[in-house]
Amino acid sequence: MIEKPLEIVVTNDDGITAPGILALAKAAMKVGNVTVIAPDKNWSASGHQKSLGKPMRVEPFAFPLDVPAYSIDRGPSDCSALAGLGFLGKKVDLVLSGVNPTANISRDITYSGTVTSALEATIWDMIGIAFSLDAEEKKPQDIDFSITETVVLHVIELVKRHKLPPFTILNVNFPEFPANDPPVYKITRQGSRIYQDELIQRVDPFNRPYYWFGGSPPIGDCDEGTDCGELSRGFVSITPIHLDLTAHQLIPDLEKWGWNDRA
Ligand code: MN
Repeated sequence: MIEKPLEIVVTNDDGITAPGILALAKAAMKVGNVTVIAPDKNWSASGHQKSLGKPMRVEPFAFPLDVPAYSIDRGPSDCSALAGLGFLGKKVDLVLSGVNPTANISRDITYSGTVTSALEATIWDMIGIAFSLDAEEKKPQDIDFSITETVVLHVIELVKRHKLPPFTILNVNFPEFPANDPPVYKITRQGSRIYQDELIQRVDPFNRPYYWFGGSPPIGDCDEGTDCGELSRGFVSITPIHLDLTAHQLIPDLEKWGWNDRA
Protein backbone atom coordinates (compact mmCIF):
# COMPACT_ATOMS: atom_id res chain seq x y z
CA MET A 1 0.00 0.00 0.00
CA ILE A 2 1.36 3.41 -0.88
CA GLU A 3 1.23 5.76 2.09
CA LYS A 4 -0.37 9.13 1.39
CA PRO A 5 1.98 12.07 2.02
CA LEU A 6 1.24 13.97 5.21
CA GLU A 7 -0.61 17.24 4.80
CA ILE A 8 1.33 19.60 7.05
CA VAL A 9 0.71 23.18 8.14
CA VAL A 10 3.68 25.02 9.57
CA THR A 11 2.99 27.98 11.83
CA ASN A 12 4.65 29.94 14.62
CA ASP A 13 4.14 32.85 16.99
CA ASP A 14 7.18 34.89 15.91
CA GLY A 15 5.78 35.90 12.55
CA ILE A 16 6.15 34.51 9.04
CA THR A 17 9.55 36.15 8.45
CA ALA A 18 11.24 34.61 11.52
CA PRO A 19 14.23 32.34 10.82
CA GLY A 20 12.80 29.51 12.96
CA ILE A 21 9.76 28.93 10.75
CA LEU A 22 12.00 28.69 7.70
CA ALA A 23 14.07 25.95 9.36
CA LEU A 24 10.91 24.10 10.41
CA ALA A 25 9.24 24.30 6.98
CA LYS A 26 12.46 23.11 5.30
CA ALA A 27 12.54 20.03 7.55
CA ALA A 28 8.80 19.34 7.15
CA MET A 29 9.10 19.38 3.33
CA LYS A 30 11.06 16.12 3.61
CA VAL A 31 8.03 14.25 4.95
CA GLY A 32 4.93 15.83 3.49
CA ASN A 33 3.10 18.57 1.63
CA VAL A 34 3.78 21.78 3.49
CA THR A 35 1.70 24.95 3.65
CA VAL A 36 2.90 27.83 5.79
CA ILE A 37 0.19 29.80 7.62
CA ALA A 38 1.63 32.26 10.13
CA PRO A 39 0.99 35.67 11.68
CA ASP A 40 2.26 38.75 9.86
CA LYS A 41 3.93 40.01 13.03
CA ASN A 42 5.36 38.73 16.29
CA TRP A 43 2.72 37.32 18.69
CA SER A 44 5.11 35.78 21.22
CA ALA A 45 3.54 35.36 24.67
CA SER A 46 0.03 35.88 23.26
CA GLY A 47 -1.22 32.65 24.84
CA HIS A 48 -4.17 30.68 23.55
CA GLN A 49 -6.12 33.29 21.67
CA LYS A 50 -9.05 33.34 19.30
CA SER A 51 -10.38 36.04 17.04
CA LEU A 52 -14.00 36.68 17.93
CA GLY A 53 -15.82 39.64 16.45
CA LYS A 54 -12.80 40.64 14.38
CA PRO A 55 -12.26 39.76 10.74
CA MET A 56 -9.12 37.94 9.67
CA ARG A 57 -7.23 38.96 6.56
CA VAL A 58 -5.25 36.25 4.83
CA GLU A 59 -2.63 37.24 2.24
CA PRO A 60 -0.50 35.00 0.02
CA PHE A 61 3.11 35.40 1.07
CA ALA A 62 6.30 34.93 -0.97
CA PHE A 63 7.95 32.44 1.39
CA PRO A 64 11.60 31.68 0.56
CA LEU A 65 10.85 27.97 -0.11
CA ASP A 66 8.81 26.34 -2.84
CA VAL A 67 5.66 25.97 -0.71
CA PRO A 68 2.35 27.85 -0.57
CA ALA A 69 2.37 30.37 2.26
CA TYR A 70 -0.14 32.76 3.80
CA SER A 71 0.30 35.51 6.33
CA ILE A 72 -2.62 36.45 8.53
CA ASP A 73 -3.20 39.60 10.51
CA ARG A 74 -4.22 37.65 13.61
CA GLY A 75 -2.54 35.34 16.10
CA PRO A 76 -0.96 31.89 16.13
CA SER A 77 -3.91 29.81 17.35
CA ASP A 78 -6.03 31.42 14.64
CA CYS A 79 -3.59 29.99 12.09
CA SER A 80 -4.29 26.47 13.37
CA ALA A 81 -8.05 27.08 13.47
CA LEU A 82 -7.97 28.33 9.86
CA ALA A 83 -6.24 25.13 8.79
CA GLY A 84 -8.59 22.94 10.83
CA LEU A 85 -11.75 24.63 9.60
CA GLY A 86 -11.04 24.07 5.94
CA PHE A 87 -9.18 27.14 4.67
CA LEU A 88 -6.97 24.94 2.47
CA GLY A 89 -9.91 22.87 1.18
CA LYS A 90 -8.25 19.66 2.37
CA LYS A 91 -7.81 17.71 5.57
CA VAL A 92 -4.64 18.73 7.39
CA ASP A 93 -2.94 15.92 9.33
CA LEU A 94 -0.28 17.77 11.24
CA VAL A 95 0.37 21.29 12.55
CA LEU A 96 3.99 22.01 13.39
CA SER A 97 4.63 25.19 15.35
CA GLY A 98 7.97 26.95 15.74
CA VAL A 99 10.84 26.87 15.79
CA ASN A 100 10.64 29.36 18.65
CA PRO A 101 14.03 31.00 19.29
CA THR A 102 13.72 30.58 23.06
CA ALA A 103 12.67 27.62 25.18
CA ASN A 104 9.00 27.08 26.09
CA ILE A 105 9.28 25.11 29.29
CA SER A 106 7.68 24.79 32.68
CA ARG A 107 5.13 27.53 33.38
CA ASP A 108 5.86 29.30 30.09
CA ILE A 109 3.45 27.13 28.23
CA THR A 110 0.20 28.97 28.84
CA TYR A 111 1.90 32.17 27.65
CA SER A 112 3.38 30.53 24.61
CA GLY A 113 1.80 31.04 21.21
CA THR A 114 4.08 28.28 19.93
CA VAL A 115 2.55 25.74 22.33
CA THR A 116 -1.02 27.01 22.20
CA SER A 117 -1.21 26.92 18.40
CA ALA A 118 -0.26 23.22 18.62
CA LEU A 119 -2.97 22.72 21.27
CA GLU A 120 -5.49 24.51 19.04
CA ALA A 121 -4.68 22.02 16.28
CA THR A 122 -5.91 19.14 18.46
CA ILE A 123 -9.30 20.82 18.86
CA TRP A 124 -9.78 20.48 15.09
CA ASP A 125 -8.62 16.86 14.93
CA MET A 126 -5.08 17.53 13.75
CA ILE A 127 -1.84 16.41 15.38
CA GLY A 128 -0.01 19.31 17.02
CA ILE A 129 3.70 19.49 17.83
CA ALA A 130 5.51 22.55 19.22
CA PHE A 131 9.24 23.08 18.65
CA SER A 132 11.39 25.54 20.58
CA LEU A 133 15.13 26.00 20.61
CA ASP A 134 17.04 27.18 23.64
CA ALA A 135 19.69 29.59 22.44
CA GLU A 136 20.09 31.50 25.66
CA GLU A 137 18.97 34.98 24.70
CA LYS A 138 20.75 35.06 21.33
CA LYS A 139 19.08 37.16 18.64
CA PRO A 140 17.06 34.88 16.30
CA GLN A 141 19.23 35.82 13.29
CA ASP A 142 22.37 34.68 15.17
CA ILE A 143 20.98 31.25 16.07
CA ASP A 144 22.25 28.11 14.37
CA PHE A 145 19.07 26.16 13.49
CA SER A 146 20.94 23.30 11.79
CA ILE A 147 19.93 20.65 14.37
CA THR A 148 16.24 21.36 13.61
CA GLU A 149 15.93 18.87 10.76
CA THR A 150 17.34 15.94 12.74
CA VAL A 151 15.02 16.60 15.68
CA VAL A 152 11.87 17.37 13.68
CA LEU A 153 12.13 14.34 11.41
CA HIS A 154 12.78 12.00 14.33
CA VAL A 155 9.80 13.34 16.30
CA ILE A 156 7.45 13.11 13.31
CA GLU A 157 8.57 9.57 12.53
CA LEU A 158 7.83 8.39 16.07
CA VAL A 159 4.50 10.25 16.28
CA LYS A 160 3.41 8.66 13.00
CA ARG A 161 4.33 5.21 14.31
CA HIS A 162 2.78 5.49 17.78
CA LYS A 163 0.03 8.15 17.47
CA LEU A 164 -0.93 10.64 20.19
CA PRO A 165 -4.13 10.58 22.28
CA PRO A 166 -6.80 13.23 21.50
CA PHE A 167 -6.16 16.82 22.67
CA THR A 168 -2.55 15.98 23.50
CA ILE A 169 0.55 17.48 21.94
CA LEU A 170 4.28 17.05 22.24
CA ASN A 171 6.17 20.10 23.46
CA VAL A 172 9.67 19.69 22.08
CA ASN A 173 12.56 21.82 23.34
CA PHE A 174 16.08 21.35 22.05
CA PRO A 175 19.44 23.00 22.61
CA GLU A 176 21.17 24.86 19.79
CA PHE A 177 24.07 22.43 20.13
CA PRO A 178 22.94 19.19 21.85
CA ALA A 179 25.47 17.57 24.18
CA ASN A 180 25.39 14.33 22.17
CA ASP A 181 25.60 13.49 18.49
CA PRO A 182 23.11 12.15 17.56
CA PRO A 183 21.02 14.06 20.11
CA VAL A 184 19.63 12.17 23.10
CA TYR A 185 15.89 12.50 23.81
CA LYS A 186 14.40 12.63 27.31
CA ILE A 187 10.71 12.32 28.16
CA THR A 188 10.06 15.08 30.69
CA ARG A 189 7.46 16.77 32.87
CA GLN A 190 7.00 20.49 33.33
CA GLY A 191 9.53 21.83 35.81
CA SER A 192 9.40 25.00 37.86
CA ARG A 193 10.36 28.32 36.46
CA ILE A 194 11.22 31.25 38.66
CA TYR A 195 10.29 34.50 36.99
CA GLN A 196 12.45 37.47 37.88
CA ASP A 197 10.18 40.10 36.37
CA GLU A 198 10.16 43.59 37.78
CA LEU A 199 7.48 46.18 37.30
CA ILE A 200 9.15 49.19 35.73
CA GLN A 201 7.32 52.49 36.02
CA ARG A 202 8.39 55.45 33.90
CA VAL A 203 6.82 58.73 32.88
CA ASP A 204 5.89 59.65 29.30
CA PRO A 205 6.45 63.12 27.72
CA PHE A 206 2.93 64.09 28.85
CA ASN A 207 3.73 63.26 32.47
CA ARG A 208 1.59 60.14 32.53
CA PRO A 209 3.05 56.99 34.07
CA TYR A 210 3.48 53.88 31.94
CA TYR A 211 4.50 50.38 32.94
CA TRP A 212 6.70 47.68 31.47
CA PHE A 213 7.54 44.22 32.70
CA GLY A 214 11.33 44.28 32.93
CA GLY A 215 13.85 42.34 34.98
CA SER A 216 16.02 39.35 34.17
CA PRO A 217 15.13 36.19 32.25
CA PRO A 218 13.49 33.42 34.28
CA ILE A 219 15.52 30.70 35.96
CA GLY A 220 14.47 27.08 35.42
CA ASP A 221 15.00 24.30 37.93
CA CYS A 222 17.53 21.60 37.03
CA ASP A 223 15.74 18.63 38.59
CA GLU A 224 16.05 15.31 36.85
CA GLY A 225 13.09 14.56 34.62
CA THR A 226 12.00 18.17 34.21
CA ASP A 227 11.92 19.92 30.84
CA CYS A 228 14.22 22.72 32.02
CA GLY A 229 16.60 20.35 33.78
CA GLU A 230 17.15 17.96 30.88
CA LEU A 231 17.34 20.82 28.38
CA SER A 232 20.03 22.53 30.46
CA ARG A 233 22.07 19.31 30.34
CA GLY A 234 22.02 19.33 26.54
CA PHE A 235 19.24 16.80 25.92
CA VAL A 236 16.16 17.16 23.72
CA SER A 237 13.15 17.50 26.02
CA ILE A 238 9.84 15.91 24.97
CA THR A 239 6.90 16.81 27.23
CA PRO A 240 3.37 15.56 26.59
CA ILE A 241 0.89 18.39 27.22
CA HIS A 242 -2.90 18.26 27.09
CA LEU A 243 -5.72 20.72 27.07
CA ASP A 244 -7.24 19.39 30.31
CA LEU A 245 -6.14 21.89 32.96
CA THR A 246 -8.16 20.24 35.72
CA ALA A 247 -6.22 19.79 38.98
CA HIS A 248 -7.43 16.19 39.25
CA GLN A 249 -5.57 15.51 42.51
CA LEU A 250 -7.53 18.26 44.28
CA ILE A 251 -10.99 16.91 43.41
CA PRO A 252 -11.35 14.42 46.34
CA ASP A 253 -10.29 17.07 48.88
CA LEU A 254 -12.44 19.76 47.33
CA GLU A 255 -15.49 17.48 47.49
CA LYS A 256 -15.10 17.37 51.28
CA TRP A 257 -15.36 21.15 51.68
CA GLY A 258 -19.10 20.95 52.41
CA TRP A 259 -20.26 22.93 49.40
CA ASN A 260 -23.92 22.17 49.99
CA ASP A 261 -23.98 22.25 53.79
CA ARG A 262 -26.48 24.74 55.17
CA ALA A 263 -25.53 26.36 58.46
MN1 MN B 1 7.91 33.28 20.04
